Amino acid sequence: MKHQPPPPPLPLSQPPSLGGATGGVVASAISSLNGNNNITTTTNGIEAGKCRPTLYPKPKTPSFDKDRDYIGFATLPEQVHRKSVKRGFEFTLMVVGESGLGKSTLINSLFLGDLYKNRQMPNVEERIEKTTKVEKKTMDIEERGVRLRLTVVDTPGFGDAVNCEDSWRVCTQYIDEQFRQYFTDESGLNRRNIQDNRVHCCLYFVPPWGHSLRQMDLDLIRRLHRKVNIVLVIGKADCLNKQEVRKLKERILQDLEDNHIQLYQFPECDSDEDEDFKQQDRELKASIPFAVVGSNTILEVAGKKVRGRQYPWGVVNVEDPEHSDFIKLRTFLISTHMQDLKDTTQDVHYENFRAQCISQISQHALRERGKLKRDSISSTNGFDAAISETDRLLLQKDEEIRRMQDMLTQMQEKLKQTHLMEMKKNDSVIDV
Ligand code: GDP
Repeated sequence: MKHQPPPPPLPLSQPPSLGGATGGVVASAISSLNGNNNITTTTNGIEAGKCRPTLYPKPKTPSFDKDRDYIGFATLPEQVHRKSVKRGFEFTLMVVGESGLGKSTLINSLFLGDLYKNRQMPNVEERIEKTTKVEKKTMDIEERGVRLRLTVVDTPGFGDAVNCEDSWRVCTQYIDEQFRQYFTDESGLNRRNIQDNRVHCCLYFVPPWGHSLRQMDLDLIRRLHRKVNIVLVIGKADCLNKQEVRKLKERILQDLEDNHIQLYQFPECDSDEDEDFKQQDRELKASIPFAVVGSNTILEVAGKKVRGRQYPWGVVNVEDPEHSDFIKLRTFLISTHMQDLKDTTQDVHYENFRAQCISQISQHALRERGKLKRDSISSTNGFDAAISETDRLLLQKDEEIRRMQDMLTQMQEKLKQTHLMEMKKNDSVIDV
């Protein structure tokens, strides 16, 4: 049998009409997509209702005549890009650390905003009894047409009270609540418009005046490190000289290792990345924990405007890598690793939470089933209607358990693969 060549692709300037009532809507959508208002909306010989309801994206060089092998999927990255830009991005950052460590100043310096305009500082008496609160602030930022909805979750009162017991509880509860909400939304009907409030990164501020991490830091980090990507930051690093910064960083890293705490793990650089990117990646990794200085003041130094802190003996230029790791932190958080922080939240932390939830639900269903069975045995045999109702419930529960167990197996398999592939977060999977 002779092979028939496939029909040529439909010309972009004359998209197929869907026909019927939807034809006009689709045509106008195509029109706005192509930026062409003169598109004819006739069926062009294609039987109405039978053509493919596809909107053809306009490829950069649709040279069908020249390149006969052109299929069109090379435009997929552009399609994804356009869709993501249209949708915008969401990112939630939690800042944790005792008050006065420069958290608000740093956040304002990082995102060039003023999130803490109307802030009220508690006095000493208030702070003695103070409980940790969660304060959420959101700002919409736009840069070159890309919209970012940034949510900063602050924990005022953290570590302020004499008894800091509740400080960690508030943080873990907040993170879990966001996961729970996402889990509920995902199981609901309107899954397309879920708002993602999960915490993608936690900036944990360590004071510059200690010798290393304090017991309360270790306690909190231990409770959080399997729930969220923790990035350690030494605040007000201008209080320390270079050797002191180096020593403090070494001791902190040693403490974390001794306590088997795993902070956010940088992904390995792809071997085909260019050398500059690899170098930048190495420098970022070597700087952890970031020793930062924040400032909301713009100063003029040698004719140049810089974000800095003026002291009697000179100016600390926040953005100078010799003075602080501020630029490295900003590069990491915004330019290079924001998406990976989101992916790790989804693939590791949220999956752990989901696995736990499903395991709890299936255990609950098992208990219910056992209870129903016992009830059914103890009930009198004469009541047929009651028995058949019990049987129906039992079957329903069996089915529910079977579904949960299937889901659990799939998730465990997925988690295993993620771990094997990325070779990171070795301890992240919680056995269920
Ligand atoms: P927060 O309570 O942790 O949010 O701390 P703030 O950002 O309100 O800062 C508390 C005080 O420390 C303010 O007077 C800031 O000007 C000052 N401050 C902020 N960042 C730095 C820093 O990097 N170095 C120094 N020396 N002071 C800072």
